[in-house]
Amino acid sequence: MTPAEIWQVARTISPGLGIATVYRALRILMDMGTVEVVDIPGAPPHYERKHPHHHHHFLCESCQRVYEVEACTSGIDQTAPPGFLVKSHSLTLYGVCAECAGKVAASSAA
Ligand SMILES: [Zn+2]
Ligand SMILES: [Zn+2]
Repeated sequence: MTPAEIWQVARTISPGLGIATVYRALRILMDMGTVEVVDIPGAPPHYERKHPHHHHHFLCESCQRVYEVEACTSGIDQTAPPGFLVKSHSLTLYGVCAECAGKVAASSAA
């Protein structure tokens, strides 16, 4: 979620809450290690609960929402040149989410 999205949700619980409060709270949560920033090229920074497990992201180019993708192509680490040590990787899929795809082509919903 972006701070603006979090703010929208938070305001339904606590009307009158300022977005500065959201940023402040996020900073505290980041210091605590509860929340991390996900930097996705082409999207505003997203904040999400820190995951103990490995995952990836999907950026919908239509609504700019970021989704978590649990699957991983385990062979990706083998694409590094010989002798290179891969410690981690991050992968972002770009496309159109089911919701947005449904708006465009309502017939092809899975
Ligand atoms: Zn979308
Ligand atoms: Zn992976």
